[in-house]
Amino acid sequence: MEVKCDKCGRNRAVYFQRYTGLRLCKGCFNKYFIGKVKKTVMKYRMIRSGENIGLAVSGGKDSMVMLHVVSRMASKIKDCSVTVLVVDEGIKGFRDESIRLVVEACRSLDLPYVIGSFRKFFGVTMDEIVEMRLKISERRLRRRPCTYCGVLRRKVLNELALDEEVDKIAVASNLDDEIQAFLMNVTRGDYARILRLKPVHEHTEGFVPRIKPFRECLEEEIAIFAFLNDIRYHYGDCPYLVEAYRRDIRNFLNYMDVKRPGIKFSILSSLDKLREMLEKIYVPALRTCKICGTPSSSEICAACKVLKELGLIDSP
Ligand code: SF4
Ligand code: ZN
Ligand code: ZN
Repeated sequence: MEVKCDKCGRNRAVYFQRYTGLRLCKGCFNKYFIGKVKKTVMKYRMIRSGENIGLAVSGGKDSMVMLHVVSRMASKIKDCSVTVLVVDEGIKGFRDESIRLVVEACRSLDLPYVIGSFRKFFGVTMDEIVEMRLKISERRLRRRPCTYCGVLRRKVLNELALDEEVDKIAVASNLDDEIQAFLMNVTRGDYARILRLKPVHEHTEGFVPRIKPFRECLEEEIAIFAFLNDIRYHYGDCPYLVEAYRRDIRNFLNYMDVKRPGIKFSILSSLDKLREMLEKIYVPALRTCKICGTPSSSEICAACKVLKELGLIDSP
């Protein structure tokens, strides 16, 4: 027998939401999901009228769903526009394919997009950086590929956003990402990084603020939304992905969530409470990078530091 939706009582249920005990049809699930994103956007005043929002889209599931949901939401806000920001790290067989999907989606949604590559900004691709890191003789300076990639990617995104006169950069970080990072930082005692896990980053000269419209959405529900709405995204894994520790934390959180549905929301709320307390006692010093002039918590920003280690720039 067909199971009916607990909300409308009419349509066939397609999703069982464990933390509420509700069975939802496609229409009611979509309404719930979009409403949740809208609530987050409004609660933190993430998007205001007249703003140009830069959507950081990689082609993966979360960012492709953000492209559809947030661009539609922004189109309903007075004088609000959207620019899609794409970073091409230069990872053969992986990023080229995902960028193709982003470009296709932007064309079909009629959204402007810009692509910034590692090659253009730093003169090398991520594939080349992976080779170069092996030549670094001091082992402690040989970082994981994702460390170089993450730091340089942030730099390119910021430069693209400044060039495009974007007011804020929306990143598709979801609830699972946030609480995984939280637990990783707690277990490592890295409280300074907990301060970065906030829904909205303030404006600093030279640094475009970031917003996280999916911060209260479960990864599972983003995947369901993509599936139910035929949103195409790139499935492949990056060849440089090494995330043993994060995977353990993710498995632990998923195990706990099966036993205690809703626990992920409680952890997010604990993160916010702890972060607010830390904000009162820890005020990071804000300086300007001696090399590139962008705001930084240390003398040399993270991007310049790794570029220096790779021998791509000289000391000031
Ligand atoms: Fe970059 Fe790591 Fe992501 Fe690959 S998995 S795209 S190397 S951050
Ligand atoms: Zn329904
Ligand atoms: Zn710098």
